[in-house]
Amino acid sequence: MNVTVLTLFPEMFSALLVGGIIKRAVESNRISIETIDIRDFAKGPHRTVDDRPYGGGSGMVMKPEPLAGAIRHAKQSHPGAFTLVLTPQGRLFDHGLARELARCAELILVCGRYEGIDDRICQDLADEELSIGDYVLTGGELAAMVVIDAVGRLLPGALGNEQSAQEDSFSTGLLEYPQYTRPRSFEGFDVPDMLLSGNHGAIRQWRRQASLVRTFLERPDLLLDQPLTPEDIVFLERLHRDIEITLDRHSTTS
Ligand code: SAM
Repeated sequence: MNVTVLTLFPEMFSALLVGGIIKRAVESNRISIETIDIRDFAKGPHRTVDDRPYGGGSGMVMKPEPLAGAIRHAKQSHPGAFTLVLTPQGRLFDHGLARELARCAELILVCGRYEGIDDRICQDLADEELSIGDYVLTGGELAAMVVIDAVGRLLPGALGNEQSAQEDSFSTGLLEYPQYTRPRSFEGFDVPDMLLSGNHGAIRQWRRQASLVRTFLERPDLLLDQPLTPEDIVFLERLHRDIEITLDRHSTTS
């Protein structure tokens, strides 16, 4: 996959190459990350990239001409690229979308700054607007890095162990089960006995049930759309019954 990032701060993207899975994915040619400085497409002695908003108001807006020049330049080298503008107003980025984007051979990510970019760029030259969450960052660079990291780790071979991506939170539609490593006992808390049993079938079942409980407690919304197995339903019904019995006992004693 090739990712071309359009930004006023290309140097920020060296952070992705400091270490870890994305650095290794770059080194093994699974992903290449190019940056294009939007200012290189600005005209005039000051190479101005921003201007005051029409209609008044605070802050500055990124001018359309340098952005259009940078996007067209990127598209010359990557004509089939899917072009995404990072903006808090875009489609919410999630694991499903990361999986979709991991199937693209080429992506162009456009990072805004100031009060954002001239809206005509989104209408004319972008395929999609993308938000990484309901909060406002000072620029699109961190959002672009989030997208590169989440998509890059899904590229075939990037993780080294495909199984681990399949079990991660959201891949199964649930949050992942709790993970533990040595020591067996840490500050008075022990690793659950089941994980030491060596019984792989029972461990798989324990993990599935722990995922269901964790998802129910932390993100019940995920369970609403999640196809459950007959074993999941039996487990949840048993839990439901146990909770009812406990509540009944307390209501009769109080
Ligand atoms: N005035 C804009 C608004 O209210 O929608 C916010 C502009 S923000 C200060 C500057 C840039 O940061 C945006 O153009 C965008 O590229 C990036 N940005 C901020 N929050 C983001 C988010 N949640 N997801 C993706 N990009 C974001």
